[in-house]
Amino acid sequence: MPELPEVETTRRGLVPLAVGRRVVATKIYDRRLRWPVPRTLEKNLAGRVIDGVDRRGKYLLFRIGRDTMLIHFGMTGSLQALKRPPPRTAHEHFDIVLDSGVTLRYRDPRRFGALLWLKAPAEAHPLLASLGPEPFDPACDARYLWRATRRRKTAIKLALMDNGLITGVGNIYANEALFRAGIRPTLSAHRLSQPRFARLIDAVRETLAEAIAKGGSTLRDYVDSDGEPGYFQLDYSVYGREGLPCRVCGTAIKSIRQGGRATSYCPRCQR
Ligand SMILES: [Zn+2]
Repeated sequence: MPELPEVETTRRGLVPLAVGRRVVATKIYDRRLRWPVPRTLEKNLAGRVIDGVDRRGKYLLFRIGRDTMLIHFGMTGSLQALKRPPPRTAHEHFDIVLDSGVTLRYRDPRRFGALLWLKAPAEAHPLLASLGPEPFDPACDARYLWRATRRRKTAIKLALMDNGLITGVGNIYANEALFRAGIRPTLSAHRLSQPRFARLIDAVRETLAEAIAKGGSTLRDYVDSDGEPGYFQLDYSVYGREGLPCRVCGTAIKSIRQGGRATSYCPRCQR
């Protein structure tokens, strides 16, 4: 599943290709994504110039005048940039052709992604208005997280994955950041002290920053790559390592389910 670093990597790849470019054609092959692609999208987009590509959580926001085109990758979505697009396949649902000749092609086998048109102000749209601060936002500090969780008896890992508290920390990075901060994922959020939240937000930022840096190294191949742009594997400490020895203390990594997702942690290093 694309997480924040993959979306940010895609954004960084798109900026030099799309910003300042005019849309010369939009071809929607299948409108049945998570929400139907609006019938007016092609008309809204026709001849418009892309002024910027921003990210909020895992949403890509194409700024077009006062309006915004939103793309979300859902479970399996990705956006390719193609100079010579081959014939589309069944899992490719739309093409946006720019005046540079580059085609942005959206691929999404499970179709949980989204392509929407947001009227200004986009940030007031329900999808964006409900989001908490970005992990790298200085306001998203230990004091904020501590105060916002005083009444939350939910497990800290689930709180960390709650986009209303902090935006864009998915399963992989929640697991990895909790390991790095030495915090047991099942601990009640309201029992965590402010200094431990300080270690946690540092760990979240470090893990995400490392993944974004690694993603940047894949951007060289963005145009005309046949793979999924911006996808990369980190050397995880706990994620996907059930039963393997902890890289710090050698204890077997334990795996449990929380909120329907796999949680992996070291029973010795994480308290
Ligand atoms: Zn350990």
